[in-house]
Amino acid sequence: MLNDWQDAASSEPTVCPACGAPIGLPEDPILGEVMWCDACGAELEVMSLQPLRVELFEEEEK
Ligand SMILES: [Zn+2]
Repeated sequence: MLNDWQDAASSEPTVCPACGAPIGLPEDPILGEVMWCDACGAELEVMSLQPLRVELFEEEEK
């Protein structure tokens, strides 16, 4: 028997790891794409497409 909640979880909006605000992702995000959180301005990198996952983009300081 399939669990309905699994489908619901897979369609959860992606949220900013820094502030938890939902992120407006493009329709077809690209792996490694960097975007900005509208709420806190954090730089976010697409780390995974299936499932869709973003992490804070950390720029290496020189
Ligand atoms: Zn944020």
